[in-house]
Amino acid sequence: MFWDNYNEAMDRSLLGKLQIKLLQETIKRATHSSYYSKLFKKERITPESIKTLDDLRRIPFVTKDTLREEYPYGFLATSKDKIVRLHSSSGTTGKPTVIFHTANDISEWTGLLARCMYMTGVRFGDVFQNMMGYGLFTGGLGFHYGAERLGTLVIPAGPGNTKRQIMLMREFETTVIHIIPSYALYLIKTLEEMNIDPTRDLHLQIGFLGAEPHSEATRQRIEEGLGINAYNSYGLSEMCGPGVAFECQEKQGMHVWEDSYILEVIDPKTMKPVKDGEEGELVFTTLKREGMPILRYRTRDLAVVYPEPCACGRTHRRISRIKGRADDMIIVKGVNMYPIQIEKTLMAISEVGSNFQIILDRKDDNDHMIVKVEVSNDVFQGDLKKLQNLRKRIVNGLYTEILVTPEVELVEPNSLPRSEGKAVRVIDNRDQWGDSENDELQA
Ligand code: ADP
Ligand code: ZN
Repeated sequence: MFWDNYNEAMDRSLLGKLQIKLLQETIKRATHSSYYSKLFKKERITPESIKTLDDLRRIPFVTKDTLREEYPYGFLATSKDKIVRLHSSSGTTGKPTVIFHTANDISEWTGLLARCMYMTGVRFGDVFQNMMGYGLFTGGLGFHYGAERLGTLVIPAGPGNTKRQIMLMREFETTVIHIIPSYALYLIKTLEEMNIDPTRDLHLQIGFLGAEPHSEATRQRIEEGLGINAYNSYGLSEMCGPGVAFECQEKQGMHVWEDSYILEVIDPKTMKPVKDGEEGELVFTTLKREGMPILRYRTRDLAVVYPEPCACGRTHRRISRIKGRADDMIIVKGVNMYPIQIEKTLMAISEVGSNFQIILDRKDDNDHMIVKVEVSNDVFQGDLKKLQNLRKRIVNGLYTEILVTPEVELVEPNSLPRSEGKAVRVIDNRDQWGDSENDELQA
C-alpha cells in the first residue's frame, strides 16, 4: 500500500508517456518566461517539437549561473500575483538562487513529501519533530507541509538549541525526526553527555537525513545512536527542495519521482549522457512546476542510477547516495578526492567523535593536508599509547581510501567549529599562496 498507488507503481511505459505529456505542458508554460521565450524562439522549440526524451536534449542546460544571470524574474512563467511563496538555495557555492511557487506548486511539492514520508512508514498519529531550518531554506517548510498533509503532529523545532530539542522529544514523545546528518551526530553526543538512552528514554522510530552528503557509515552511527531507521532524503531548492529522491524501506538507493521530474545523468566533462550504472552528474527537468519551470538543470551532484526494479514495487528509478558536488572535489598532491571519502573512513572507527575538519595548506612548496578529528573525552584523556595507536589507525585508514597520507590531529570533543546548517568540512588555505602558473601567465 502506497500513498499514491497509481503514480508510484505506474508501469514504466505509461510513465514514459506521462513524462512526455507533462514535458510538453511544461514547455508551453515556460514560454511565458522571458528566458525561455527568447531561447525557444532562437532554437525554434515548440511544445509539439519535443516528442521524445531525445528531443529534450535540444534544449540547453541551465546552471546555477544561468539562474543567477536571470535573477530575479527571468524564469518567472506566471504573473507575479499567482506566486504565493519564494524560497532560495542555501548559497553553499555562491549567491543563492531564488525559486517562485504558485499555490499549485506548493501543493504538488507537499504531496511528494507526504508520499516520501508515508513510504518509510510514517502514519497519522506520529509526532514529527522537524529540526531543519525554517525560512528561505526549503528543508523546514517543505517537510512541514508534507507532514501536516499526512496528518502527523508537527513540532516545528528548527535547527540547533539541542537541549530544547531533547526536551521536546521527551515531553511530546517524538517518533519521527528530520535532521542534517552532521547535526544528528552532535545530537547523539549530547544525549550521551546527558546520560539519556534513546531506546530507553525516547520514542524515536524514524529519521530523515538530508541536505548534505553522508556515508553509509554515518547512517549506521545515527541509526544505532538514536535507535531509529534512518532514510536518505535528497532534493534541491531549484527542484522545489526535499522530495526529489527518497529512500524506501529497502534502503537500496533513493527513488526519483519521475512523474514530477525527468532525470538525466551526464558526464560533467563531455556533457553526454552516461549509461545506467555509471557515475555522472544529475540533471533534472521540472514536469509540474507552474511558477518557475526549469528544464535540464545541472545539479553538479554526482551519483549512479540503479535501473533495476526495486523490491518495494515502486517503478521509479533509484539513485545512489550523492558522492558530493563536482565542486567538492579536492586535489591534494595531484590526487583527486571527495570529503565523503574521509567522512566514511572516520565514521567507521568507533573511537572517532562526531566532528572533523580538513585543512589544506602549502608547506615547503607542497600541498599539506591536516585532518582534525574529534575523539570522545575518555579517549582524549586516556592512555597516551592508545591515543597514538588510534591516530595511526586513522592515518592508515585514510591512506587506503584517499592514497595520500594526511597529518592527523586528534582533538577534544566540541573543539571544532560547528555550523547550524550544512557542515563546512574543508578549509582550503592554499588560495592565499596564489596560483603560481597563472601569475606567470599574467606577468
Ligand atoms: P545549495 O545548493 O546552495 O546548497 P540547497 O539548499 O538547494 O542549496 O541544497 C541542495 C543541495 O544540497 C543539493 O544540490 C546537494 O548538493 C545537497 N544535498 C541535498 N540533499 C542531499 C543528500 N541527501 N545527500 C547529499 N547531498 C544532498
Ligand atoms: Zn523501493
